[in-house]
Amino acid sequence: MLSTKLLKQVALNAGADIVAVGPTSRYEGCPTQMDIRYALPGCKSIIALGFKHFRGVFRGIEEGTFFTNYSSMGYASINSIRQPLTLKAICDWIEDQGYDSMPIPNHLGWTPNDLSGQVIGKEKVPRENFSKPAKEGYPHPNVAHHMRLGAVIAGLGEIGWSKMFLSKEFGPRQRIALLLTDAEFEYDPVVKPGTICDRCKLCAQNCTGNAIPFDDNDCITVTIDGHEIKWANIDYMKCSRYFCGASPKHNPFNITEEDRINFAEHVGKAQEYKLRTIYWYARALEGASGCIRACMRHLEETGRITSKFKSKFRRKPAWKLKDDTETELPNQDKEIENWE
Ligand code: SF4
Repeated sequence: MLSTKLLKQVALNAGADIVAVGPTSRYEGCPTQMDIRYALPGCKSIIALGFKHFRGVFRGIEEGTFFTNYSSMGYASINSIRQPLTLKAICDWIEDQGYDSMPIPNHLGWTPNDLSGQVIGKEKVPRENFSKPAKEGYPHPNVAHHMRLGAVIAGLGEIGWSKMFLSKEFGPRQRIALLLTDAEFEYDPVVKPGTICDRCKLCAQNCTGNAIPFDDNDCITVTIDGHEIKWANIDYMKCSRYFCGASPKHNPFNITEEDRINFAEHVGKAQEYKLRTIYWYARALEGASGCIRACMRHLEETGRITSKFKSKFRRKPAWKLKDDTETELPNQDKEIENWE
């Protein structure tokens, strides 16, 4: 057994902001296609790392002055630079102790985990002609890594009503990486649901796309280590359009009729429209108005997280542009195809 204290010290020194470790046995009962134990057969532990967003990357969007810092120095810098470098240092340490380690950064598992196929039994499988199991009883390659549930299983925090991962340190203000290993540790407990999220529903109230339902019964439920975990049944079609800037009232680049059509495309298309991508990311123009900014304000102001600042995040009334055309956005009901 390796030292949990030493592991955490190595992870923090390497650049993670928070770290927790849990046993992969907490995946028991999970659908095969999402059971991370198939990714590294024989693994015993799952390590979750949180990389905080600087609160200031949201300031420009919050006050209507600067819109690409969150996407570039938040999303892109964490996913593409901080996570791979930090994971390498931790994997080096684990493998130096004689154990396998598999790093899983946030942006690893999109296309190879294409689960847009059919439901077989209770399980969703990859689309037709995408892959087949290498052996009877195995999942289709690749198994899907549910990053947020992986972090819950490791004991890093909980999933809020918004479906955002919330930590006791930063609330929704971080991105997650995972690491699998056959080394064993003393484990962190699963954070009891409701420790951080108090169901204030400010995330739903402040989402510019109304993608988060208010109704307590409109939710997804999973059970982990005996804890029933529920989160809102998010409307991803709305989410994918509005976080890219589909609302002309919340996107100062959305001015013409052509803009209205193109910013209302789904993620993958809208992100390439008008504003150039920066380090492959330039789409989160809405700045997570409900699921990050409103939630963060609430958790800071109510003292439900430990992160402290000298001033409140919202220091001016929220801005909103005038938009006289109250018609439905184009593409609203179009099916999302070719998710990336
Ligand atoms: S805004 Fe409130 S209800 Fe929504 S996730 Fe945050 S704490 Fe939970």
